[in-house]
Amino acid sequence: MKVTLKSSLMTWSGSDFVLSKLETVRKEALHGYNKVTVLPSEELDDAYKEVGILNGYRVNYSFSQVIISLFKVNNETVNFWTHIVPAVYFAWKLAFLYSSQPLLSDPYWIPLSCYLFSCMAYPLASALAHAFSCMSPFSSHLCFFLDYSTLSFYSWGAAVFYYSYCFPESALHTYYSYSYLPISALNSVLSTFLACSSRLKKQSRFATTFRLGSFVVPYIWVSSPLVYRLLTCDPITDSCAESSYFHVSQFVLVLAASFFYATHIPERFLPGYFDFIGHSHNLLHVFGISATYQQMCGGLIDLSFRKTRLLGMGWTVDPLWTWLATPLVIVSTLVIIFCSTRIMDDVRPFTCHSNQALRPSLSHTNSAKKCH
Ligand SMILES: [Zn+2]
Repeated sequence: MKVTLKSSLMTWSGSDFVLSKLETVRKEALHGYNKVTVLPSEELDDAYKEVGILNGYRVNYSFSQVIISLFKVNNETVNFWTHIVPAVYFAWKLAFLYSSQPLLSDPYWIPLSCYLFSCMAYPLASALAHAFSCMSPFSSHLCFFLDYSTLSFYSWGAAVFYYSYCFPESALHTYYSYSYLPISALNSVLSTFLACSSRLKKQSRFATTFRLGSFVVPYIWVSSPLVYRLLTCDPITDSCAESSYFHVSQFVLVLAASFFYATHIPERFLPGYFDFIGHSHNLLHVFGISATYQQMCGGLIDLSFRKTRLLGMGWTVDPLWTWLATPLVIVSTLVIIFCSTRIMDDVRPFTCHSNQALRPSLSHTNSAKKCH
């Protein structure tokens, strides 16, 4: 006699209770799904409008509405998925390498764990920021403070990565190499401070450029040894012949990501056409995370090919840079985030309606009046 899961469940004494609970959850989910709606930009305060995005905004969502909204079309859906999937990939990569290599015990491999952790952290924080920033104006600022801080932390992870595996041989054991990591750590903390500061000011083109600059300057410093090595390396003795394709691709992809972030193209020229997919922030995510992937591929080639040569030259990075400096960078950025939230004295409401009881569940069809 064929025994199905349903028939087995029905014979269990607690089945009525479980089935009634499941039915309640199903009804609440359906009800919540229908309640999750979005607003047009004309109902939003200027501080929360994005250039060229006319519809699909989520405001004042509850936690369950946020979760449901991730599976419905709005102007953050693609932003969320383009970073949560890569975050899972980098977590898997970290776990996979941990199971096959001495990531936490061999001084040569330890910097890789710091780097991969930062590669996982920044898209994860970004995805969560894009998901939950709609819960309140305060959460919006807090989420993006965390987003900026993990991006700055990633610059530190990349610095440790380059220092350990991609540094030019001619620069080993020089003042440049001795100052590289301390300045990178300082840059990481400073960039969090500057990016958070840009959000405390009124959102404008200047604020966007200022924020972009706070990430570009550390990026240039962190990348400087790799650029120098690619320009001067000997492909016969160095692994640059194998890894340069990935490193150069990474630079091109970062340039593309920065271009779209700074210009708001294509939605600037065709407002409303890219509200849900294809706008500049989607492109920033796709190009940015692709750059990180290329960076990892190039660095892993260098790690593998240069090991004997680097160790022979006495180039083993002190594990303290990972185990001590990394937590210090993290704590410093958390302190900056805490201070930033304390001095936010002008958190403007999402919408121009004075009554903030407005919930997305309410129809907005009657309130299409211009706010500003
Ligand atoms: Zn983003």
